Amino acid sequence: MVASLGYAAPAAKVPLGPYSFERREPGANDVMIEIKYCGVCHSDLHQVKDEWGSSMFPMVPGHEIVGKVVRVGSAVKGFKVGDLAGVGCMVDSCRTCGTCKQGLEQYCENGFVGTYNAKEKDGKTITQGGYSNNIVVDEAFVLHISDKLELSAVAPLLCAGITTYSPLRHWKVSKGQKVGIVGLGGLGHMAVKLAHAFGAQVVLFTTSAGKSEDAKRLGADEVVISKDAAAMKKHLKSFDFILDTVSAPHDLNAYLALLKFEGTMTLLGVPPAAPSLNVGNLIFKRTQLAGSLIGGIKETQEMLDFCAEHGITSDVEVIAIDKINEAYERMLKSDVKYRFVIDMATLKS
Ligand SMILES: [Zn+2]
Ligand SMILES: [Zn+2]
Repeated sequence: MVASLGYAAPAAKVPLGPYSFERREPGANDVMIEIKYCGVCHSDLHQVKDEWGSSMFPMVPGHEIVGKVVRVGSAVKGFKVGDLAGVGCMVDSCRTCGTCKQGLEQYCENGFVGTYNAKEKDGKTITQGGYSNNIVVDEAFVLHISDKLELSAVAPLLCAGITTYSPLRHWKVSKGQKVGIVGLGGLGHMAVKLAHAFGAQVVLFTTSAGKSEDAKRLGADEVVISKDAAAMKKHLKSFDFILDTVSAPHDLNAYLALLKFEGTMTLLGVPPAAPSLNVGNLIFKRTQLAGSLIGGIKETQEMLDFCAEHGITSDVEVIAIDKINEAYERMLKSDVKYRFVIDMATLKS
C-alpha cells in the first residue's frame, strides 16, 4: 500500500484535521500523482456536512487536483514520471455502457466512481480525494496539464472549468450569440471567461452590485442586477442561451422570460426545493430548460488544452491546508474571489 497524508472530516459537521491513510499500490494501469494543489469546491462543503445524505467518514474531500506524476504502472502509455497531471470529479466508471462508450462517463448508466466519498468498483474501497499529498488513479481518468499556466490557478478547471465548458460547448455557444450567466461564484466566473473566449456577447446576472466591475474585468459585456425589474425587462426575449450556476433558491421564471424563441436555459445547481415553473415561458417560445453535469474525460482534456492555448485560468486565493475550516466559513458568506486552492506544500508530515 501507499502511505498518504491528508486532511479529513472525521464525521459530519466536525472540523477537518490531519489524517493518515493508505491508498492502493499502483497497478499496471495506474498513475501515482504527488499532489501540488487542490481546489476547494462547494460540493466539498456539502459532503463534509452530509447535506446530501450520502457521506462516508472519515472523508478526505477534493476533486480539483493537480500535481506531478511520481510513479506509473507497467501498462501506462500516456504518462511518464515528471509529467504534470490532473484529476477531476471522477476516477472510474463502468466503461461499457452507452454513455461511457461515447466518452460521457459523467452520465455512466451504472454510476461513475467519484474521486472521494464513493465506492470503487470492488464495492468496498472508499475513495479519498485531493486534500492530500498523493493519489493513485487509473490513467484513463488522468488529465494532461500544460506547463504554460500557473498550476494553482489550473486546479479549479478540473471541476468549475469543465462544469461550465461542457454546457457552453454542448449548446454551441459562439460568436454572434447573446449569452447570460447567472451568478458570479466559482462556476460563474469560469462561465464568464469561457463564454467570452467563445466570442459570445456575455451578460452577467448577479444580486450584488459590488460584483459589476469584477464581472467586466473577467469578460462580461454587461452586468444586470437581477433584483432590478426594469433592468431585467430590457432583456426580455433576447437571449440565445442562459447558464444558471446558482444552487440557492431563486426564481427561474424571471430568466426563462429573457430567452428568445427556441432559446435554452441550462441549470448547474440543484436547489434544495423544487422550483416553481411558469410553463408558458416554455410553450410560447418553444424554449428549453435543461441541466448539465461536469463533463467527460475527453472533453475535460479538450477544455484544459483550450485554456492553455487561450491563457485561461481560475481566479484563486491560495491557502495553507490548516486554513481549510476557515475557508469553508468564508465560502458560506461568498467571501472568496473566486476559488480557494490548497497549497499542498503546507501539509506537514
Ligand atoms: Zn466540484
Ligand atoms: Zn458506464
